[in-house]
Amino acid sequence: MPMQKPPRLATGTLAFFLDFDGTLVPFDKPDESVPLVDDGLRSLLTELRNRSDGALAIISGRSIEVIDELFEPLKLAAAGEHGAEWRFTPHAHREQIIAPPGLVTAHASCEQFANRTLGVRFERKALSMVLHFHRHPELRDAAAKAAEAGCLPDSGVRVMHARGMVEVKPVDASKGHAINRFMQAFPFTRRKPVFIGDDVTDEDGFIAVNALDGVSIKVGAGNSHARYRLPDEDAVREWLESLLD
Ligand SMILES: [Mg+2]
Repeated sequence: MPMQKPPRLATGTLAFFLDFDGTLVPFDKPDESVPLVDDGLRSLLTELRNRSDGALAIISGRSIEVIDELFEPLKLAAAGEHGAEWRFTPHAHREQIIAPPGLVTAHASCEQFANRTLGVRFERKALSMVLHFHRHPELRDAAAKAAEAGCLPDSGVRVMHARGMVEVKPVDASKGHAINRFMQAFPFTRRKPVFIGDDVTDEDGFIAVNALDGVSIKVGAGNSHARYRLPDEDAVREWLESLLD
């Protein structure tokens, strides 16, 4: 299990990929509360982006639309819905993968399960969906089963586990795919990727970054493919701030 704090690095050659919930802001129940993006976080990310010539992106399960609302007025490069949509620069057009046909069947299965199960809330996004059960962790197995039942073979969708949630998303959407896509685009290409995340959905990103000889950083406890670890989101901010000294 990697335990060491990441080293200090020179920002000039880095590309930053940052998860949002549980990494830059405290993890709360994402379907019930709105995380606060403070001015300190806005200026930290702005400064890091300037130092790395624009190579900084938010890589989140949330949609880019919601990320924009949370960071307003700051706009950032971003991948949303676990990489199903992306924007390489802050003011570029949003691009997305082609929606797989299996989303329709999965939608029906997940929504029916949520309707008949107290403690589960269904959230539909443009290219994915979520069963939230943050107060009822005992519902994970049933939620996963309902989601799996909606993911037919060759339907182009799969189930993914996250903190307090089960998600259904396109097989082509992962944080690893997202980071690899950014690493082929200006201004990210030829830089050393740094990815920081806290959840099981971030593991694909850690694997991708390790393969590129980058810096993978897990936030909090739990097994991980990441090479480094920071205890919480305050430590993430402290470490990022230390790179600006
Ligand atoms: Mg997270």
